[in-house]
Parts: sequence; C-alpha cells; structure tokens
Amino acid sequence: MELMYASTRDANEKVTASQAILKGLANDGGLYVPTEIPSLDVSMEELSKMTYQETAYEVLKLFLTDYTEEELKNCINAAYDSKFDTEEIAPLVDADGAYYLELFHGPTIAFKDMALSILPHLLITAARKNNVKNDIVILTATSGDTGKAALAGFADVKGTKIIVFYPKNGVSPVQEKQMVTQKGDNTFVVGIHGNFDQAQTGVKKMFSDTELAKEMDAAGYQFSSANSINIGRLVPQIAYYVYAYAKLYANGVIAKDEKINIVVPTGNFGNILAAFYAKNMGIPVAKLICASNENKVLYDFFSTGTYDKNREFMLTSSPSMDILISSNLERLIYRIAGEDAAKNAALMKELNTTGKYEITSEMKEKLADFYGNYASEKETADTIRDLYEKTGYVIDTHTAVAASVYHKYKKDTNDAETKTVIASTASPFKFSRSVMDAIDPKYDSLSEFELVDELSKIGNVKIPQAIEEIRSAEVRHKTVCEVEEMPKVVKQFLGM
Ligand SMILES: *Cc1c(COP(=O)(O)O)cnc(C)c1O
Repeated sequence: MELMYASTRDANEKVTASQAILKGLANDGGLYVPTEIPSLDVSMEELSKMTYQETAYEVLKLFLTDYTEEELKNCINAAYDSKFDTEEIAPLVDADGAYYLELFHGPTIAFKDMALSILPHLLITAARKNNVKNDIVILTATSGDTGKAALAGFADVKGTKIIVFYPKNGVSPVQEKQMVTQKGDNTFVVGIHGNFDQAQTGVKKMFSDTELAKEMDAAGYQFSSANSINIGRLVPQIAYYVYAYAKLYANGVIAKDEKINIVVPTGNFGNILAAFYAKNMGIPVAKLICASNENKVLYDFFSTGTYDKNREFMLTSSPSMDILISSNLERLIYRIAGEDAAKNAALMKELNTTGKYEITSEMKEKLADFYGNYASEKETADTIRDLYEKTGYVIDTHTAVAASVYHKYKKDTNDAETKTVIASTASPFKFSRSVMDAIDPKYDSLSEFELVDELSKIGNVKIPQAIEEIRSAEVRHKTVCEVEEMPKVVKQFLGM
C-alpha cells in the first residue's frame, strides 16, 4: 500500500512521498507528515547484521513507498559511499557511561551530511518519476552549516543547480572558507550585504514570485528547497537511530527489547523528531532527551506547555542550535493534537501573530516520551573539559550541550541504568576555537589552523579531510551583492 503524506495544516492536501520531496512545503504553509508511521518489518536479529546502507534501505522503503527498490538502493549507494571517512558511516563511541553516535563523518563534518548527501538523489529521482522536465534549482539561505552540506550534496549532480546565499559578515571564517572553495560547475555561492534573516527573506520572495517562476520555466528551470522541513531530509535521519540500536544489540551492550535513552542536541527539532519516528517504528526507547543551549524555548515548552519565542536571541558557542522557531516541532504538535490539522493550524497562526501558543493539558500528557533541559555556556564548556580530562575523548560544543543535559537528566531522575545514546552532531574540528578554549584557555593566542593542529595532537584524531582541504583550497566564489540584487544574480548564474 502506498504511504501518503498530508499537510499538518490541511487534512485534504495529500501527496505521495516523491511529490512531498519535490515540493518541500505544502501549499498552505504546512509540513508534510506521513499519514501513519510504519513499523519495521525485519527482526532485530536481521538488523543487527546489516550495514548502514542496508539499514537505511529497510527504513526508506517503508516511508518512500512510491520509489522502487532499485531507485532507493541507487540513491542510498550514491549517498553513503567513500565521501564518508568510515565504512561504518555512523560509528558509536563508548565514553564515560554513554554511547556517542558520531554523525559527522561525512564531507562537511556535521550531521547535516547524513540527510543532505541523499536528498539530491531522492529529489532528482522524484523529478523523473513526476515527469518534471526542468532542471531543479536549489535556492538556500544559510547561517553556516546547511549551506556547505547542501553544496557538497548537490555538487555535480546532473539535472540540478544550487545557489547559496550567506551573510557576508555573519558566518565563521571556517564556514565561509568551506563554502567559497566549493567545487562543481553547478554550484554558486553568494555573500550578501545583510544578515541571515535578509538572506532568508530574499530567498522566500523568489520562491513565491510567480513572474520569476514563469521566466524560469521558459528557460527550463524550477526552484526547490533543501531545508530541513523537507520530508526527504527527515526520513534518512531515522535510519541512524535504528542502526545505533541494532549495533548496541549486536555488540551485546543491550538485551533483546531492552530500552535505551536517546539524547539529541536540538535546534529546529528535526533530528530528535527522527528519533521519535524511530521509536514509533518499533525501536525500544525509554526517553527522548531534548537538549537546548541558552536559547531554551523547547525546555520551557516541555516544562510549561507554552511555546514562547518572545525573548532575547542568544549567540552561543553552539550556533547551529541558536534558533527560536523550531520548525519541525509543528509535526509533533500535529500528532499530539490527534492529527487535527485545523487545531494545529490555529496554534501555528497564533505563533505567527503573537509569537506564542499554549497546548492543552491533554496534549501535554502525550509528551511523556520527552524530557527537556538546557545547558548554559559555562556548563557546555565544563562538559567538554571534564570529558576530555576523564577519557581523552574530545566532543564539539553542540554534542557537549547534549552530554551536559544528560548529566542533568541522571541527577533529576536517578535513571543511571538505562543505556544511553548521545547524538554527536559535529566534529570538534568544526568548532576548534570554542572546543580548545574550553579545554584550556592557554590556546587562546593560536590561529585557526594552529588550533586544528593542536586539537589533532591532544585528541589523538586525524585532521578531517574537510579541514585539510580548505587550508590550501582555491577560492572559487567571489560574488557579493546587495539584498535587492539577489534575483538578478540568480538570473545571471542561470544565463537568463
Ligand atoms: C543543525 C544542527 C543541530 C540541530 O539539529 P536540528 O535537527 O535542527 O534540531 C545540532 N547540531 C549541529 C552541529 C547542527 O548542525
């Protein structure tokens, strides 16, 4: 049977998986959700013997039912190949009483690669299936990580072009260097004189510009989106939770059907939602632990039932979690509202107009799967240092937020028994300065690349290819424009 996708804001809008991937967002502004969450149909015995690619297939085949077996396997094999620096793709590291699921072994050394390495393939397959003749043009505004992961994923993928806008003075030096050195004739990176919000607004304007869409169509192009609300990013993320559980079972860490906790450093709520879906597919999970940094909207939401984004935006050392509107939370709200699109739409409208909403006590009861907490900047740094001093293992700032919240969870609940997986979302090399500062302030005077060398020494880990590359890589993208010029720049790149 075909699994369909419905909009969280309109029960009547139903599309196939490939259509949902092509469109990204529903017409009414809602997110696509599967009309039911399928159960895994292979045993843990079988899963425990599978490679990452095989596990991914078992998950994807249940969600993306209008793709053929051959199509899915081609997408999976093109995504999870030697671009990853380990055959395990997502290895587990046992350190200080928890299992760190390292999701950063892909080309841009952050967990976004887990989904953005397969999305381009899912997208062009979807275009073919739905008789789309145009080339797909991916437009992205980025504050750092997503842009590079999307560029790496789409580079040289036939039938696609990708254009990334970033705030010229609003990303870290490593992030900028990673983007402007991107190879691939179908890639285009543009710095704008403006902030991330302006880049984002400029991109959204182009998406809804019908005149532009007509011109594009005449030239053989159409826009699509690679951002995290696309179901094509969410579904591949479920796979690594299934994989992690199966590996713990295979290694004898857990018994059959033993429950585990999963801790996820959270921003847009995509990664932890994937863990929630894994649980609903049948993976035995006790608690889903949602870890926030000082932008603790989600912690407040889980404790009070009120989501309130009216607060100061904090810049932290875990920038990929600096977010006040966690878009993917809408998918959970829809679910705890009993899949009532009207109820969800009303709450989202309130969020849009007043910046907040409150869920009913009945809905709140359905959040029992989750535990929320947050870590301050100091707690995050202390966690990096303590873990390093105790074990020699170095984690990045985002992962440290999760580890710190896990310690709080243990204190709060006395649950020190349940085996726990912590999603490790970025390589420490991506945030060397904050990581090394946390370990010892004496590193403060070192340059960006000196820090990298030092980190490699003290952590006893090889410098990732992604970092080595940008040391000497040639800058290939030098375009800088004003916000108003964004459409003009797009047309120029497309030769229109
Ligand atoms: C994007 C990101 C997160 C947050 O993930 P969400 O799915 O948005 O909750 C956490 N850590 C890193 C390193 C990221 O890049």
